[in-house]
Formats: sequence, structure tokens, C-alpha cells
Amino acid sequence: MSRASRGEGPRDACGVFGIYGHPEAARLTYYGLFALQHRGQESAGLVVSDGCSVRVEKGMGLVSDVLEEGTVSRLPGHLAIGHVRYSTAGSSTLANAQPLVVRYRKGVLAVAHNGNLTNAHRLRERLEEAGSIFQTTVDTEVIAHLIARHGKNGLEAAIVEALREVEGAYALVFLDEDRVIGVRDPFGIRPLSLGRLGGAWVLASETCAFDAIGAEPVRDVEPGEMVVLDQAGVRTRQALESRRRAACVFEYIYLARPDSNLQGMNVHAVRKQLGRRLARDHPAEADIVIGVPDSSISAAAGYAEEAGLPYEMGLVKNRYVGRTFIMPAQGQRASGVRLKLNALRKVIEGRRVVLVDDSIVRGTTARYLVRLLREAGARQVHVRIASPPYANACFYGVDTPDHKELVAASRSVEDIRRQIEADSLAFLSVEALVETVGLPRGGLCLACFTGEYPVAVQDAVGKDGWERGPVPGTAGQVPAGRAAAAGGTVYRVGD
Ligand code: SF4
Repeated sequence: MSRASRGEGPRDACGVFGIYGHPEAARLTYYGLFALQHRGQESAGLVVSDGCSVRVEKGMGLVSDVLEEGTVSRLPGHLAIGHVRYSTAGSSTLANAQPLVVRYRKGVLAVAHNGNLTNAHRLRERLEEAGSIFQTTVDTEVIAHLIARHGKNGLEAAIVEALREVEGAYALVFLDEDRVIGVRDPFGIRPLSLGRLGGAWVLASETCAFDAIGAEPVRDVEPGEMVVLDQAGVRTRQALESRRRAACVFEYIYLARPDSNLQGMNVHAVRKQLGRRLARDHPAEADIVIGVPDSSISAAAGYAEEAGLPYEMGLVKNRYVGRTFIMPAQGQRASGVRLKLNALRKVIEGRRVVLVDDSIVRGTTARYLVRLLREAGARQVHVRIASPPYANACFYGVDTPDHKELVAASRSVEDIRRQIEADSLAFLSVEALVETVGLPRGGLCLACFTGEYPVAVQDAVGKDGWERGPVPGTAGQVPAGRAAAAGGTVYRVGD
């Protein structure tokens, strides 16, 4: 179960997909979006072109709510892009559903975005002062306006010019009548991969979308790279200078699907290694190990293997309670979790349990699960977290609760242990996380754990900040490399 559906947060980001050169581009995009559904459940959409006309299907809800296979299969076209959204910049409305489609002097342009622009508010103000009229409240529309302004030299040059003005995190796919273009931000914060299906080329946030359509992964799109898919095949160029890589480490911990590969590494395998390291660094006197389904199963399996303890299915997930249990109020949230997870008394009773989770954000779910296990007869509950304390907001496209709601923002590990009522609690250290992922520390974004932000944040606005303006009581800016100001800041920006 995703943490989003547990109601805890941080929530998933968004997923993008693009394909060129297949007669059933819309249908394959539909399948690709199903594979990326875990990245966003609020809206879904696709745009398809047959070289003459561009058609759009999008709406609020899951892919299965919004798109029908029969309808999609009849949409003509050999190129398409698609998007699943979890709103992190701009409210959850149909107007903000993606792909965004605009008409400018060179024709029709569709864009789908995963990430968050960190200077979008300022850019939008500047554009509005110059006369631009915005149709949505998502940061992605700023990119479309900038492209329209730079459009006289052609789309590819216009995209590069536009992206030189924006800052932050983005994995973008564009579509016009006869090409699909993918671009990744110069830090490579959000993932984007290139794949191949026979003579067709594919772009997707995660490689699990390639598996869903029978495509072969080719490689990750590099930070700052532009990939153009058109009649000539695939062309790539280093469109934006990349001075350092800062891939989101939280993709490995929680966001990505375990069957995806990021930078050549399988996500499940990384999570399992995180669990093994957790067992070495923080052993517990216990009888069994259980994981919180689904995102913590890999780490729990690794912990059990390393500790030489049996891995058991101590928590059972109800797969049929939908995303509607993303509930805003704390009381509602607790009842949502109660419906979704139950303890297996036969497994738990009389046992000393290690409960492995991928992260603790608010702490409410952890406390609920500890109580649940005790009610089911657990003698002891030792909580082990396969990541460091999540103490800082994400500005780069992952919806994070208010800073004051992050349990690790202002509490020690012992305080958190008391709050969640566990017999013991331990987190992975940042050093252990980096060593286990096996990538250079300088090549990762670790900001939610360390407070060291790789990209300066010009505009700390809330998720619905463009409806309300910048968050009251915030300086509105976080320089690169410095921790976010504590207290009262809403950072739900990004998409
Ligand atoms: S702050 Fe955390 S969740 Fe956000 S991009 Fe960086 S590592 Fe990922």
C-alpha cells in the first residue's frame, strides 16, 4: 500500500509516459499509465497525435476511472504522451489535470510534468505582468507560456530557452503533431527513462511502465538531456548544463515501484539491502520480522534474512479500500488506516516483533500499527525504519505535510519512540543510506533527511499557493544547501 493511501504522507509525485512510432500509441500509453498509477491517483490523461490532429482524454480519478480501453484503442495516432497526477502544485481540479494542451503560433503543444519548479511563482508574476493569461494554477503552465514566447525558432530551441529560465525539479514529456520530446532537469532529481519497443521509442518515469507494454529499457535520460523521438528515430543532446546530479534518494526508499530500475539498480534489491544494513546497525531481540505492506516488504525481507529471523505476514492489507481514504483530518486518517491494515493474530500472538517500515513522517500510522500489533498479542514491538528521520519538507515534487507535522522535525528518536509507543525504535543513518544505495553522496538529493537542498527554492508556496498566494509567515525562500526554516511552513509544492 502506498503511504498516500495510508493517509500518512509524503505522498507520491506524478508519473509521465511518452511513445513515438507505434500504431497503437494511445493504448500503450494507457497501459503505461496503469503501471505508473502508484505515482499519482488524483487525475489521469493522455494526448495522442496521428500527425494531423491531436486528441486529448483526461479527467479526475484513477486511470481506470478516466480512460476506457475501448475508447482509447480507437484513438488514432502513432505518438502519445500521458500523465498520472498527485497534486503538489495547484489544487486537485480538472483544469489542472495533465497533460496540459495549449495552442501557440507553431501549433498544438501538450506537456506532462513530474516535479516542481522552485521559481514558478515569480516567473508567473512576470508573465502575468507582461499580459499572459493563465488557464490553470499548476507550475507546468509557466513552462508552456515560456515556450510560446520563445517559439519563433522552433519547438526544440524554445523548450531549451524556456527551461533555462526555470529552476527546480522536472521530468517532462512534450508532444506536438509529429514528435515526442523528453527532458530531465539539470540535477536529474526526478527520474525519466528511455525504452524501446520494436521500432518504437518510449519514455517513462519508471521502467515498470516498459515492462507493462513489453518494451526494453535502454537507459536513464541524463540530467539536462533532451531526447527527441520522431520520424528519424531518437536524437539526444545535452540541452542544459548539468553541474551536479542530485537524484531523489526517496525514489529508492519509497516512491518507485520495486520492479523498477533507477540508474541501473533494481529498487527492490536496493530496499532489501537497506533492510539488511538496518539489521546489522540496529539488531533487536525478537522472534519474527514483519513489514508494512506494500512498500516496506522488501526492506523487511532483507532485515529478516540478515538477522536470521523468520519473515512473517503479520499485517494484512485490504486491497479494495480505495484512494478515497486519503483523508485530510487526523481522526479520519486513523479510521482509513484501520480499514486498510489488520494484524494477523495467529502470527503475532506471544511474539516479540520487529516491525519494518520505509519511513516515519507524521508518526500517526506507526503509533496505530504498534497498538494494532499489541492488541493482536505482540509481547514486544521493535520498530525499525529503513531510512533516516524525515525532518525537512520536499520542494521538488513530493507532497510533504506541514513542517510542524513532520514528527522528526523537532523530536529526538527517543521522543518519537515514546510517541509511537514502541519498545524500541531505530532509523538508518544518512551515511548508511548513502553507502547502501551505492551512489556518491554528491549525486543524490537527501534534503528531506539532511536539510541540504541542492536547488535554491525561490518560492515556498503551498500546493494551492497560486490560489492563495505565498504561505503566510514564511520567508518564501530556501537557499540551496541550507535547511528549511522550521515552524509553520507549508511546502506542498510540486507535481
Ligand atoms: S527532498 Fe527528499 S523526497 Fe524531495 S527530491 Fe530530495 S530526496 Fe526526494
